[in-house]
Amino acid sequence: MTGTSTPTDHHDPLAEVDVIIVGAGFAGVGMAVQLKQNTDLDFVLLERAQDVGGSWRDNTYPGVACDVPSHLYSYSFAMNPSWSRHFSPGSEICDYIRSVAAEAGIDSALRFGHEMLDARWDDTALRWTVGTPHGEFTGRYLIAATGHLTDPKLPPIPGLEDFDGTIMHSARWDHDVSLRGKRVGVVGSGASAIQVIPAIAGEVDELVVFQRTPAYVIPRRDRAFTTAERRQFQRDEASVDEFRRLIFWGGDYQFAARRRVPQYISEAEQIALNHLDSQVSDPELKRKLTPDYEIGCKRILKSDDYYPTLERPNVTLEDSALGRVEGSVATSVAGNGHGLDVLIFATGFETWDLPSAHRIHGHDGVCLGDQWSTGMQAFNSTTVHNFPNMFLINGPATSLGHNSIVYMIEAQIDYVLGALRWMSTLADDQVLEVDAGREHAYAESLHENAQLTAQLAGGCSSWYVDPRNGKATLSWPNFAHTFRDDCATFEPAPYLVSSGQRETSGFAAAL
Ligand SMILES: Cc1cc2nc3c(=O)[nH]c(=O)nc-3n(C[C@H](O)[C@H](O)[C@H](O)COP(=O)(O)OP(=O)(O)OC[C@H]3O[C@@H](n4cnc5c(N)ncnc54)[C@H](O)[C@@H]3O)c2cc1C
Repeated sequence: MTGTSTPTDHHDPLAEVDVIIVGAGFAGVGMAVQLKQNTDLDFVLLERAQDVGGSWRDNTYPGVACDVPSHLYSYSFAMNPSWSRHFSPGSEICDYIRSVAAEAGIDSALRFGHEMLDARWDDTALRWTVGTPHGEFTGRYLIAATGHLTDPKLPPIPGLEDFDGTIMHSARWDHDVSLRGKRVGVVGSGASAIQVIPAIAGEVDELVVFQRTPAYVIPRRDRAFTTAERRQFQRDEASVDEFRRLIFWGGDYQFAARRRVPQYISEAEQIALNHLDSQVSDPELKRKLTPDYEIGCKRILKSDDYYPTLERPNVTLEDSALGRVEGSVATSVAGNGHGLDVLIFATGFETWDLPSAHRIHGHDGVCLGDQWSTGMQAFNSTTVHNFPNMFLINGPATSLGHNSIVYMIEAQIDYVLGALRWMSTLADDQVLEVDAGREHAYAESLHENAQLTAQLAGGCSSWYVDPRNGKATLSWPNFAHTFRDDCATFEPAPYLVSSGQRETSGFAAAL
């Protein structure tokens, strides 16, 4: 074991369980609720922070909200008729996750401040052991729900460590820092930046936006639900379901453009360019904001107040990345220097080399991060050879630009429940491991599909693509509904089942 963990520094009643879940965001909480409601397995849910919520606990920057409508961006098994807006604020989403956990009664399984320092598969005991600052937890199954937009990423900017002012990342907002009257730089122009910028522009003295690449921005059309609408949703559950379905299929329709169907590409690009045209009058600003790649290559953003904010007299758009910092001066790659008091990095997350993967060790101590050193992959986005009895939720090939991640997470939860149900028909010493060949073939088929999409063929660089192999390993390269078709039902055939020896196919073990 690494870190400060020892087997004896706690006497937790859940130190030995059937299932260890790591991470209490949408994925981990959803998994725990479904385990509780559908199985007799005991489980512990380890979370490094002090609350549930994941992304929605950590991202508290001004303006934070979802960009998939709330009625779909929520669990199907815990529909919420009371969302305040189409795109609810982050705090409301976090409250929702909290209330789902509380109502399902999983609180007693939650362990906050329990960072997974190390997880090891024991080939003899056929158990996983997870080390935390409060001791070890042992379980037959490990479910890693540690997210992939979780660990903030700062670009390596020369001189940044000596910046005279305050630095923060959008995902770790410091609410003690007042921006009133300050000169503020925002680095990045992606999904978080376009929410932060309008929210702070009226408060700061000067705002400089460092934009490496412009995004396509389409109308958001957010609004609050009326009392009458909410009353209808509360009284008629079927109306919530119907609304969810409309949003879902509307989202999947948008994948046609990402699949590079010409008619849909021009339709989608026209919507975005008309939006730019109607909101920005300055031709030079319009030029800076016009993308030179195909729509869908990077995340398509939704905003009605981002473009107008850039026309404010106290806002400057630098159409090049931040290049270096000297004292309090931040200079763009193009060579323009700006004296600043605060630098806000809206530069995203560690996405293709997940820190948590470097803490997980399977057969013979093999490290997941090392196995993925040329790119991450998993069979049905969920299981990995060399890592028996382990499941990933919202790991490789699950990210979407056009639909709700919670939908993908729920499909994976169903898959894991199916696997656990099937394993419960076998002897206790049996372990489940996906066949390496099936996993590789699956990853290859995804890559073939991805090559048809704008993400790989659209002429941009994006955080979806792993620079080590040029593959879009994070993204699901298809319509969202096909993920459920392919991945929500567990079939044992691609698996090897054994008592540690790895010789029996899943099909043979079931006979
Ligand atoms: C600002 C923002 C807006 C977004 N908006 C949308 C949207 O509108 N629609 C959409 O579909 N998606 C959106 N996303 C993507 C979002 O990340 C997912 O939708 C979803 O919240 C992911 O849930 P998760 O449980 O998989 O991961 P997370 O929410 O990231 O949860 C992972 C949890 O694991 C914990 N953890 C990590 N490592 C360890 C460790 N070693 N030990 C213990 N605990 C650990 C973390 O603390 C965290 O609580 C957004 C993301 C961000 C950042």
